[in-house]
Amino acid sequence: MTLPRTVAALVATAVLSIVPAQAADDLKVWFVDVEGGQATLFLTPAGESILVDAGWPGFGERDAQRIAATAKEAGITAIDYMLVTHFHMDHVGGVPGLVAKIPVRTFVDHGDSIEKDAEGKKLFDAYVAVRDKAKHLIVKPGDKLPLKAGVEWTIVSAGGKSIQKPLKGAGKPNPLCATYKKRDANDDENGQSTGSFIRFGKFTTIDLGDLLWNKEEALACPAAKIPAVDVYITSHHGMNMSGSPSFVNMVHPKVAIMDNGARKGGTAEAWDTMHAVPGIQDIWQSHFAVDAGKDHNSPENVIANVAETPDSGFSLKLLAHKDGHFEISNARNGYEKKY
Ligand SMILES: [Zn+2]
Ligand SMILES: [Zn+2]
Repeated sequence: MTLPRTVAALVATAVLSIVPAQAADDLKVWFVDVEGGQATLFLTPAGESILVDAGWPGFGERDAQRIAATAKEAGITAIDYMLVTHFHMDHVGGVPGLVAKIPVRTFVDHGDSIEKDAEGKKLFDAYVAVRDKAKHLIVKPGDKLPLKAGVEWTIVSAGGKSIQKPLKGAGKPNPLCATYKKRDANDDENGQSTGSFIRFGKFTTIDLGDLLWNKEEALACPAAKIPAVDVYITSHHGMNMSGSPSFVNMVHPKVAIMDNGARKGGTAEAWDTMHAVPGIQDIWQSHFAVDAGKDHNSPENVIANVAETPDSGFSLKLLAHKDGHFEISNARNGYEKKY
């Protein structure tokens, strides 16, 4: 049967209008607000999802709910890869609650927790109980996540070790190593963080979880093992136990995104170090960091949550294009900026 011309035209228009405005050829990243923990959801153009950490337990399943709502927004019904950077409460604590809301196909982590005290053991055991029910991948530096073509996801640190050879585009001597000094810090699970370098076409980003200042030296000195990135997802929520000048100078970001809470992360030093990087354009934040004050915090339009209470859990969203351009938007006020 042939449709009359006008009806055919109407059908064609209807078909066109259901095609999403943004075709699936971008890399999408949501920075879910988990109040100073981490939960970052990546959705590749091939439709694969990678969730880096799942926030805190408790608070009426707040973080699991926020992540599940974000997954719904992303149009996914399962998490392909749940990458747990390390076994601290603000990263792994939310996993059991999340799995009750949305299934995980493969867990990715550095293996075993090095924190064997009662609290560390309780957290880790609760995680292992759900990890045992899905596929499990233990990663080491130099490994790549087995993603479909399009996104190259390289593990640069895990279990206290880091890559030995520079990644493509890196290898130059790092002048700030001359003034690098170690800091007093416990070498705990933070230093075991599984860190990722992510490349999508010309776009690059890095996420090292809570990798410690003292562990950054092996990546940044004496020569850079990681090339400059477009977006630096700040290590350790912008705490000054991470984010050394030599490391931040190496990753030399155009833009940083800080997953801090109102009173967790966001030490004044983090802004000072990042603003010292020539060419850095913006530092987006999950929260206004109360202790750092107005002098250090970024302008409010690039901060997802400005009021300490009540907290509405607004997220930031990054859309990266293959040609290296990207845009970031703020769910609180709709502010968007293209880079
Ligand atoms: Zn943390
Ligand atoms: Zn930690």
